[in-house]
Amino acid sequence: MKKKIVWFFALMMVVCTLGACGGKSVADQDIAKTSREKNQIVWGVKYDTRLFGLMDIATGEVRGFDIDIAKALTEKMLGRDGNAIFVEVTSKTRIPLLKNGNIDAIIATMTISEERKKQVDFSDVYFDAGQSIMVQKDSPIQSVNDLGANNTVLAVKGSTSAANIREHAPDAKILELENYSEAFTALQSGQGDVMTTDNAILLGMAASNPDYKLVGGTFTNEPYGIAINKNQENFLNEVNQALKEIHEDGTYDEIYQKWFPDDETGKVEE
Ligand code: GLU
Repeated sequence: MKKKIVWFFALMMVVCTLGACGGKSVADQDIAKTSREKNQIVWGVKYDTRLFGLMDIATGEVRGFDIDIAKALTEKMLGRDGNAIFVEVTSKTRIPLLKNGNIDAIIATMTISEERKKQVDFSDVYFDAGQSIMVQKDSPIQSVNDLGANNTVLAVKGSTSAANIREHAPDAKILELENYSEAFTALQSGQGDVMTTDNAILLGMAASNPDYKLVGGTFTNEPYGIAINKNQENFLNEVNQALKEIHEDGTYDEIYQKWFPDDETGKVEE
C-alpha cells in the first residue's frame, strides 16, 4: 500500500512538472487580459529610493514619482477602481522577479539599455536621468575624472551605474552593495569616499543629508522605461497608450511638479 502511495505522488509530480498543474506559465499568459480579469496590475518598485519609491514606515505606504506614475497608468488602463499593487524590487532582483511572474511590470528607476533589451521589453521613456557622483561636502573630488586608485566608489549591484563607473574611472576600487540604503550607509560609515548612481536618486539623498553634495554633473544618459516581459505586446501597447494619455491630460506634468518642483531636467516632453 505504502509503495502505491509513493508511486502516486511520484506520478503527480511528473504531471505537474509537465505543466498540467498550477495554471499557465508567465510566457503563455496575456498580462493585458489577466490584469483586467484580476482588476489589478502588480508593479515592481523601489522601497529605498527617495523621490521615486520610498517606504514610509509610519504609514506603511510607498511614495514617489514612480509610484504616482504607476497609479496614474493603472487608472488609465483599468479604470478608477483598478488596483495598483506594489512589490519591492532592488536593481538586482527586478528582472528575475519579472521573469518569474511575481510582478507584471517594473517601474523602478530603470534605465533602458541594449543589454537589458535582450531580456525584457521597455515602454517609451518616462524620465530622463544621468549618472553622477556624490561626495562629502569637504571632499577634494570634483568630478569622475578625479577618481583614481586611492578612491573607493560605492555602487549598487545590478545597476547600470556599477558597470558605467568601471568605464569612466577604471582605476578606482568599486564596492557593490545590495541596495541604495546599504550603499548610503556604507558612504556614511566611510567604507567608500564616493557614491555613484543617477543624479535624481543622489539629489534625493543629498536633500535629506546636507553633509553630502553632487559634483561634476552627469557623465551618462539614463532614460527610464517601464520594463515588461517579452511577448506581451498587448500589455506593452496599453502601457504606452496610458503614458501618452497622462501626458496629454496634464497628469504627468502634475506628478513631475509634485516630486521635482525645482528641476526640469528629468522631464520628458511628449
Ligand atoms: N538607472 C540606473 C539603472 O537602471 C540606476 C538606478 C537603479 O539602480 O535602479 O541601473
